[in-house]
Amino acid sequence: MLNRVEGIVLKTRDYGETNKIITLLSSETGKITAMARGAKKPASRLASVTQPFTHGSFLIQQGNGMGTIQQGEQVESYRHIRENIEATAYASFIVELIDRAVEDRTPQAAIFNLLKNSLHAISEEYDPEAIALFVEWKMLPVTGIYPTLHECANCKATDGEFAFSFQQIGFLCHRCFEIDPYIIRLTPSQVKLIRTFYTVPIDQVGKLTLKKETKMFIKKIVRTIYDEQTGIRLKSRSFLDQLERTPLLFPKKETPDQSPKSED
Ligand SMILES: [Zn+2]
Repeated sequence: MLNRVEGIVLKTRDYGETNKIITLLSSETGKITAMARGAKKPASRLASVTQPFTHGSFLIQQGNGMGTIQQGEQVESYRHIRENIEATAYASFIVELIDRAVEDRTPQAAIFNLLKNSLHAISEEYDPEAIALFVEWKMLPVTGIYPTLHECANCKATDGEFAFSFQQIGFLCHRCFEIDPYIIRLTPSQVKLIRTFYTVPIDQVGKLTLKKETKMFIKKIVRTIYDEQTGIRLKSRSFLDQLERTPLLFPKKETPDQSPKSED
């Protein structure tokens, strides 16, 4: 049986001298693996379309076991992601997170769109660190975590001051601060930003300019949730952390005094 599948390459591994095994995320069939025979040879017509992050349309011969890619056509190559080390690092983090969180062969139209929109935004030179943060917050429900961010997790109030509670996995209002001794107090703009990361689709946000400290703060919260609740540890994360500590390799475009447009 021949199937046409639109998908994005999450990862590839070598198989034998000349073949590759490709993991794709498609909106119709979910996460699938398929053999790309000869794709390791540079002259192969499958060589470029089976590279990580490629969005393509694939013709797959499906037998009993793993399918075989017969043809592939590039829909979008995301060239900037491959050419810029910072973009590559964050895109690698995103595809690894999605690969780890998504089960095989369950249709995942929403996650496919999240992946497509995030890679598109990075290739359009949006801040890849902010885009990765969007993906981290939005993937929490896929791992079974549903943080309470629209109201107080304890008394359901929607007004007042808020703090983040890892114990409640969500916001607590000032009336309930005492139920968790380890709350992290939030400013109104941090509350708004976390809700935006969690609920607003990437393609509807526009260019966010966020201070480094703001991103680090929000990242610390979401990473703590992953560490404590999901057991997902990503290889690409240590590479990212290393790059972020090495400013010469990883120059930052923003200046420390730049005032954030979307934080107030
Ligand atoms: Zn409350």
